[in-house]
Amino acid sequence: SCILMATASTEAEYAKYKDPKQPLNRRIGDLLARMTLAEKVGQMAQIERENATADVVREYFIGSVLSGGGSVPATNATAEAWVAMVNEMQRGALSTRLGIPMLYGIDAVHGHGNAYGATVFPHNVGLGCTRDPELAKKIGAATALEVRATGIPYVFAPCVAVCRDPRWGRCYESFSEDPKVVQLMASVISGLQGEIPAGGRRGAPFVAAGGKRNVAACSKHYVGDGGTAGGANEGDTAATFHELLSVHMPPYYTAVAQGVSTVMVSFSSWNGAKMHSNRFLITDFLKTTLRFRGFVISDWGGIERITTPKGADYMLSVKLAIMAGIDMIMIPYTYTEFIDDLSTLVKNGTIPMSRIDDAVRRILRVKFTMGLFENPYADHSLDGELGKQEHRDLAREAVRKSLVLLKNGKPGEKPLLPLPKNAGTILVAGSHAHNLGYQCGGWTITWQGVGGNNLTTGTTILEGIKRAVGHGTDVVYSENPDAGFMRQNKGRFDYAVVVVGEPPYAESFGDNHNLTIPAPGPSVIRDVCGSVRCVVVLVSGRPLVVEPHMGEIDALVAAWLPGTEGQGVSDVLFGEYGFTGKLARTWFRSVDQLPMNVGDARYDPMFPFGFGLQTRAYGR
Ligand code: BGC
Repeated sequence: SCILMATASTEAEYAKYKDPKQPLNRRIGDLLARMTLAEKVGQMAQIERENATADVVREYFIGSVLSGGGSVPATNATAEAWVAMVNEMQRGALSTRLGIPMLYGIDAVHGHGNAYGATVFPHNVGLGCTRDPELAKKIGAATALEVRATGIPYVFAPCVAVCRDPRWGRCYESFSEDPKVVQLMASVISGLQGEIPAGGRRGAPFVAAGGKRNVAACSKHYVGDGGTAGGANEGDTAATFHELLSVHMPPYYTAVAQGVSTVMVSFSSWNGAKMHSNRFLITDFLKTTLRFRGFVISDWGGIERITTPKGADYMLSVKLAIMAGIDMIMIPYTYTEFIDDLSTLVKNGTIPMSRIDDAVRRILRVKFTMGLFENPYADHSLDGELGKQEHRDLAREAVRKSLVLLKNGKPGEKPLLPLPKNAGTILVAGSHAHNLGYQCGGWTITWQGVGGNNLTTGTTILEGIKRAVGHGTDVVYSENPDAGFMRQNKGRFDYAVVVVGEPPYAESFGDNHNLTIPAPGPSVIRDVCGSVRCVVVLVSGRPLVVEPHMGEIDALVAAWLPGTEGQGVSDVLFGEYGFTGKLARTWFRSVDQLPMNVGDARYDPMFPFGFGLQTRAYGR
């Protein structure tokens, strides 16, 4: 009997799903067959960090946790603090009967922007101007390492929106108004997840084996998020199916081909119907026609928006979203309600178990593929990755390549750029010259982003300029010089660099219908450029109305939202490198023209799509 008992206990411990040598589908099937309804429903729930104690994760079998809007454990949390927090939640998940690991996700949309000390890369609007898919891939790989260094295996990126109207507050999350450019830059997925091996199964999620240096990615927001009327965030995209397929869908073809692990559904509607309840586009098209085999996740509280007012009929929302084909729900707070309602809907036969099994199978497929069962806990092997010099150098290169030179000298005058490094005195002015928070934009430390220089580590444009100029050159900085200041200093400056633009914003807070340069930018431009030759550097998430100022400006540079490496701007201003960036958006003259995109019949832009002056480098 001794021998018998030993055999029995070995059998109890061996489970196919725990055995990495078993084929993927056998592991999934084995685990699924063991799961109760409560365990399945729990897998489909993604809850907010603040609620996710180890006990809650264990008690409800929670499948995933998120930092919504990038919410951080503390503003200046160290990598160690992040790792400890995530591991503690994981302990809760692993102490359940079946020990299914929890998947932690965060919005690392331009580098690991929410983590203190991380490298913040240019936002997508700038990266699109590089037309450099290799660069995007490298940025993805560096971002994955920085995210992993904080114990996190999953990012809600890249945003593959095709922004057709810059009044949209999320336009900077879009690489371009042209789907082809978005497809090109979607190579960031191969950097985040690792390159899909040749001969891999189409539509299968892929994260490089071992999964310790890569992360699961998420293309968002499916679909048509960038096509809403007037650029309204969460608005309605009125389009024929043909337009949807040719303008907004192409990035998803690319993402699926690259093995993207997850797809996030858009808050927006298509022809009046909420995407979160769109069974045709989610199940029939994405899962069946495109054969996407990863999981579909809702947006934050996205299902509550199916009914009006928000959450009015929660059970109906749950039913419509799950039956549309959403597999994981970013709830984010009302998880007990979600779990109760979904369980009820299955028990009373409204939602068939086959739908639940499809959802759980997809979630497990991603978790198995990425090696989460083998490596559920973060260790300290990636200490030192967060904000490391090599990543900052890469970000600086990306800044250089993303800048677009729109004007260089008034008609009949010599070009102003590149600027001479050896001049007597130069003036650097404007609200955005010395403000790291403004450079980094939204989704940095906090959801809306912040102003000021103490939020994280990096170099402002002013600091970059100071490092770039020769020893004999004086750099005078004035945040908002006025006409009086310029009169007092008359004749003193050889030239000026004026850095102005938009303050940070995210989502609906960034919807804007006038798109003018915010005050006091226009008066600083007028007063400074009225008395000395000047280059205006615009720090913004989108083109702004510049036509009224063009007569005053000698040179104009679009710097977009460059991130932490301000030296990338000075590198190009002072000719260490040439300007090479090309507009990935149409630069309109006035908002009355919007929407106006490349290929439109009526096309009368200030600067057309693809425009960008070049300069030669002095050399280093
Ligand atoms: C945004 C998503 C984001 C999610 C989690 C939502 O409000 O639309 O893009 O991934 O929040 O922070």
